[in-house]
Formats: sequence, C-alpha cells, structure tokens
Amino acid sequence: MKAAVVRDNCDGYVDIKDVQLRDLKYGEALVKMEYCGLCHTDLHVAAGDFGKVPGRIIGHEGVGKVTKIADGVTSLKIGDRVSIAWFYKGCGHCEYCTTGRETLCRNVENSGFNVDGAMAEECIVPADYAVKVPEGLDPIEATSLTCAGVTVYKGLKTGDLKPGQWVEVVGTGGLGNLAVQYAHNVFGAHVAAVDIDDAKLAATKELGADLTINSRNEDASQLLQDKVGGVHSAIITAVSPDSFTTAVNALRPDGTLVAIALPKGDMGLNISKTVLDGIKVAGSLVGTRQDLAETFQFGAEHRVKPIVHTRKLSEINDIIDEMKNNQIVGRMVIDFTH
Ligand SMILES: [Zn+2]
Ligand SMILES: [Zn+2]
Repeated sequence: MKAAVVRDNCDGYVDIKDVQLRDLKYGEALVKMEYCGLCHTDLHVAAGDFGKVPGRIIGHEGVGKVTKIADGVTSLKIGDRVSIAWFYKGCGHCEYCTTGRETLCRNVENSGFNVDGAMAEECIVPADYAVKVPEGLDPIEATSLTCAGVTVYKGLKTGDLKPGQWVEVVGTGGLGNLAVQYAHNVFGAHVAAVDIDDAKLAATKELGADLTINSRNEDASQLLQDKVGGVHSAIITAVSPDSFTTAVNALRPDGTLVAIALPKGDMGLNISKTVLDGIKVAGSLVGTRQDLAETFQFGAEHRVKPIVHTRKLSEINDIIDEMKNNQIVGRMVIDFTH
C-alpha cells in the first residue's frame, strides 16, 4: 500500500512509498483510509524537529473505515468509521491515564511520530483508542476536527468557559477560526477575535465573533478592559510569543490564559497583575478520547464547520511548500478514496 514516509535525511519533505504493514496484534484493527489532513505538526516530524524518525509514516488527522479486527477487539466492528488522532495510545495504567488526563501520559504514543500514522492507504490502530466518527459528520470535515477541532474545544474547556462569559481568541487561522465557532455556538460565550489580518477578522465576524480587533492598529488588551471589563479567558492560537505576553493584560480578575499554539521562545508574565488579579495560566494539549467524541458530535450537529479542501497524495510535497509559504486558508486533506 502507498504511504507518505519521512525521508532518510529528514529534510522536511516526504516520499510516497510502497509499504507493507505488519500483522495485527491482539486488540488492534486495520483501517482503510478515506481522508487524512496535513498538519504543521507533520511538517515538524518530517523535518526532525521533535527527533529524527526516517521511514516513519506521517499523519494524525486520518478518517477511514475498519476492514479487519484482531482477537480481543470489542469496541469496533468491520465497517465502523473511525479517526486516527495525534493521541494514538496511552499506557492505560498511570496516574494520568486513570484520571481523565491521558494525553499527559509519559508513555504516550503519537500517530505519525513514534508510531506509523494515517497518511497512507491503510493504518493499524489500537481499537480501544480509535474514536468513532458519528453519523452525520462529513468525513472530510472530521479530519480537521480530529486535530484542530479537539485542540480548541479542549482549550476552551481548560479556560473553564461558561455561557455568557467573554473569551478572547488570539489568532484566527485554522485553530482560531474553529475556536470562535466552538466558543460562540457550543459554549454560548461572547467572543472577541484578535488578529493582524483584516480579511481573517471579517470571516470570524460571520462565524459569530462579537468583537473583532486588529492588534496592529489597536491595543487589544486595553480595548477589552475598557469595553467589557476584561475577558474571562483568552485562548492563544497565534504563533508569536508576544501575543501570549500581551493577552495576559486582557484578562479580568480570576481569568485564565490558555496556551495552545507552540511558538519557540518564552512568554512574559506581568507579576503584579498575576498576583493581584489571581490570574491563571494553563497549557492545553489536544484532547482525550472523550473530548474528541464530544468535538465530533458538535460537528455532526452542524454547530461548527471547518474549512477543508481535498487534494491528491501525489501533491503532498507541493502542499508542504504551500504551507511553508503560508498560502493556504483552511486545511488540505488528502483523498484516499480515488
Ligand atoms: Zn494536526
Ligand atoms: Zn499512561
């Protein structure tokens, strides 16, 4: 079967190769891929940024159907549509796995990084960890919810966002665009979207942002303090460390800053503001199987809609270049159905 694998020199691109998967082990299922989104995380893997993994099949935004199950599988049957997410498997018995924080497992396996992933015609999954894609959710859109969707949904939960509260969404790209939709349509919150791109800001207005602020022209934190008394939480999807530092000042007392983007470098933290206003700062990483199931269900109910475009597997290195050059709006999804 064809698969996109990391090159021997880990130069940031992939080769399309014929790969033979091993036999299924106890508790595993084989998935015939329908669609798989290409993510910036895949680009980091291909470039060796998290450690070099030549020969590894990339991909963690996969959706496909179960074609085979091994002994011991009770949670899936042949024909089920499932997802392959970055969180591939936890150890199942540590402090984090047994207390609903499985993505923090120290022995976690990640699809397309330390195990072969979903950018292939077929993929092996541990059945108990493969979250089903519900009826009514478009499988192409599901690929985006598998990664960006669950990341922002969990991030909003981490900020303890409640109906009627204000949330600041900093950065309105792939993650931020979905964060606005979940915040407004699922959490029932008021949303302030902040970016430096007027076109992206205008798009978030259509999706339910109550306020849009271009931080190139305006001091977003000051404006939010003046207009709404500060936000209850701020979710940072932007890739500049400065965005993290300034967003702290947009929070109202007892507010929470949630970091989900991963720029290199450090953020500053105003110490008096943090102490006197009881500010909390939290990191949030993808989501658990239950978080993903909830993320999918809201997609199936059409409360959120990711922007997706399908492409051919043979175009994957062109897409990598387009992503590096920031030429893409929404997510490019490889179509394995043709
Ligand atoms: Zn991803
Ligand atoms: Zn564990």
